[in-house]
Amino acid sequence: MNFRYRLMQFMSGRYGTDDLTYGLLILGAVLSFINIIIRLRLLQLLVYAVVIYAIFRVLSRNLEARRRENRFFNEKMNFLKNKMELYRCRKNDKYHVYRKCPACKAVLRLPNRIGEHTTVCPRCNKEFKVKVRK
Ligand SMILES: [Zn+2]
Repeated sequence: MNFRYRLMQFMSGRYGTDDLTYGLLILGAVLSFINIIIRLRLLQLLVYAVVIYAIFRVLSRNLEARRRENRFFNEKMNFLKNKMELYRCRKNDKYHVYRKCPACKAVLRLPNRIGEHTTVCPRCNKEFKVKVRK
């Protein structure tokens, strides 16, 4: 109980853990596991740097800066999650192919018909060729 009280006193006013901390620790574990196989001194130093940075963040008293870092990390992770979800949905869609318009970069969902076709972008009305392979 005394130790727990001391730990609580030590941690008061400090940032603690968040998603970025867990992300850094997972990254450190993954890099460490990779380093078991390929054994690079530089990679080992990188593992130390990642873990030390995670510990620094937990003990930091600059709460606003740590929150900003965490917000940035969460935005990037959400972006990645959305991209992966989109990729998974498109991969499972057997009846359509997805092509980007070369003019306006809009993504068009086209019927999955094998061969070379001409299509018109509904957004910018540009005509372009689409090749669909099996
Ligand atoms: Zn277009």
